[in-house]
Amino acid sequence: MPLKMPHNPLLIGVYPGTFDPVTFGHMDIISRALPLLDKLVIGVAENAGKGPLFSLEERIEILKTEIKSLPNPEEKEISILGFNNLLVQFAETQKARVLVRGLRPVSDFEYEFQMAGTNRKLAPHIETLFLMASEPYQLIASRFVKDVARLGGELSSFVSPEVGIRVREKYN
Ligand code: ADP
Repeated sequence: MPLKMPHNPLLIGVYPGTFDPVTFGHMDIISRALPLLDKLVIGVAENAGKGPLFSLEERIEILKTEIKSLPNPEEKEISILGFNNLLVQFAETQKARVLVRGLRPVSDFEYEFQMAGTNRKLAPHIETLFLMASEPYQLIASRFVKDVARLGGELSSFVSPEVGIRVREKYN
C-alpha cells in the first residue's frame, strides 16, 4: 500500500543549494518557481565538505538581502533556512511536496538525474521539479564566479553589485 501523506492544502517547494554565492542563475530559478508554489523554502546546504567560501550564516544573510529586491507581485511566502541533514528529511520537516532544481545544459544532467532518482527512492511522495536554466544565465556557476573574482575579473554579468562586493572582500 502506498504511504498516505497527510493532506496539506499548501504546495510548498524547497529549492536546495549551496549558494556560495547566490548568482543571477539562482535568482532566475527562484523567481520562476515562485508563481508555481504557495510557499518557497530556500534550503541553504551547510556543505562543509565542499569548503564553501562563505559561511552558512553569510550565505543566508546574502540571500535574504537579494530576495528583498526580487519582484514578488503575489507576495508569496519565501523563507531561507540552513540545513545539514538529508535533503528529503529537511523537505519533510518543511512539509514540502516539491524539490526545485535548476538544470544547466549538459553538465548538470547526470548528477541531477541521479540525485532525483535517489530522493525519489527515499521519499516517493516528494517530486523533483526541474526548471531549465534561462538562456542568459546558462553559463553562470558559483564556482566560476569565485575563480573570476580571485583573478580580479569583472563580476557584473554573474552576480548583483552587492554580492560582487562581498566576493571581492573575501579575496582582498
Ligand atoms: P549545489 O551544490 O546543490 O550544486 P548550487 O548552489 O550550485 O548548489 O546550485 C543549486 C541549484 O541551482 C542546482 O539545481 C543548480 O543546478 C542550480 N543552478 C545553479 N546555477 C544555475 C544557473 N546559472 N541557472 C540555472 N540553475 C542554476
